[in-house]
Amino acid sequence: MIKGLCIHRMPYFGGNVSKDIHKQLGLRKVINACGSYTPFGVSRSSDGVADAVAQSLKDYFVMSELADAAGKRIAEIYGVENVAFSHCAAGAITMAIAAIMVGNDMDLLYALPATKDLKNKVVIQSGHLVNYGQPIEQAVRLSGAGIIVAGTEQGCSVEALDKALVGEDVCALLCVESRLCKSGTVPAAQAVKRAHERGVPVVIDGAAQDLRLDEVIGFGADLTITSAQKYLSAPTCGLALGKRHLTECMQLQEKGIGRAMKPTKEGIIGALAGVEERAQMDMGFWETVQKEKSEAFAKRLNQIIHLSAECQPDQTGLPFSRVRATLDEKAANRTAVQVTALLADHNPMIALQDHELKLGVLNFEIVGLNQQELKTIYDQLSVLLD
Ligand SMILES: *Cc1c(COP(=O)(O)O)cnc(C)c1O
Repeated sequence: MIKGLCIHRMPYFGGNVSKDIHKQLGLRKVINACGSYTPFGVSRSSDGVADAVAQSLKDYFVMSELADAAGKRIAEIYGVENVAFSHCAAGAITMAIAAIMVGNDMDLLYALPATKDLKNKVVIQSGHLVNYGQPIEQAVRLSGAGIIVAGTEQGCSVEALDKALVGEDVCALLCVESRLCKSGTVPAAQAVKRAHERGVPVVIDGAAQDLRLDEVIGFGADLTITSAQKYLSAPTCGLALGKRHLTECMQLQEKGIGRAMKPTKEGIIGALAGVEERAQMDMGFWETVQKEKSEAFAKRLNQIIHLSAECQPDQTGLPFSRVRATLDEKAANRTAVQVTALLADHNPMIALQDHELKLGVLNFEIVGLNQQELKTIYDQLSVLLD
């Protein structure tokens, strides 16, 4: 791999996007320090991925052959049996649960979301009831399945999980790997083991975990779901990696409730290009660059009066840190909420993570930003807090 070329092409280093679309439509540019965030277009693709997508749009394909070939290639790279594609990870959750419930029985498939006489309850730990823009329960219920919540707000013990798994109607366990999850849940590998001991198949939603996908696949779920458009920086597409039979049953769902969740040719080809590019990347080098970038940015923010910044590793184990800056609201005579609102009003819009704003903390995810954008953030904060 030629490193210099890779830096230029890789979106994580802050890619270059079309200059014209924003202008033509009179749109503001966004400096997105939220991370792989759907409301801002999620990620920036490399030239290589964008070229593959552009090519795909100009031609016809036998879609089933395309999905088979791309799935085979991605399955080889990750060492799984097979891969199913969907429009996005949320769709993959629905299609996966539907596939587990009905298998390859077409009558049952066409009857969905009616699940009469089927095992139709999905166990999910309370701390996994995340909202990624939609409550995850709804992605399950769309299939016709219902939910059994294991544990309480306070957490879920192994015993509480076991108790939920023995239910007669239980068809699957759904686990979530995300920084949105609450603490106090049964670790994924252990939860998978418990479910398998009871003959219950497991689906893991690791939508934003592509940077540690090998580890998440290693937890042993029957299907591991991820999004192609998050850190992989491909077009929107859901991937479900795992057991051949289940992935094939999932793809069958396109003839039923999965019609509205089907993958596009550009999604499949873009996802494959993203995976191939990732497989060729020197991840150690990437991590070093990210580390230096976040440390330098934290150092810079520390020079701004009333701000004290530090790097914070990702809590799920993704290989990068975010920058967390505490604002002395009294001394600054402004709250973090006010500062963030002013940054959002700026042109280009500057968008930060908002989960700790009420505590006076500004959180920046800068993986997808370039130096020019980081400078703009620094300049604006300096002006606002001076
Ligand atoms: C982003 C996300 C999703 C949804 O992914 P899409 O590909 O946008 O449908 C689901 N679960 C988690 C944990 C996510 O972070």
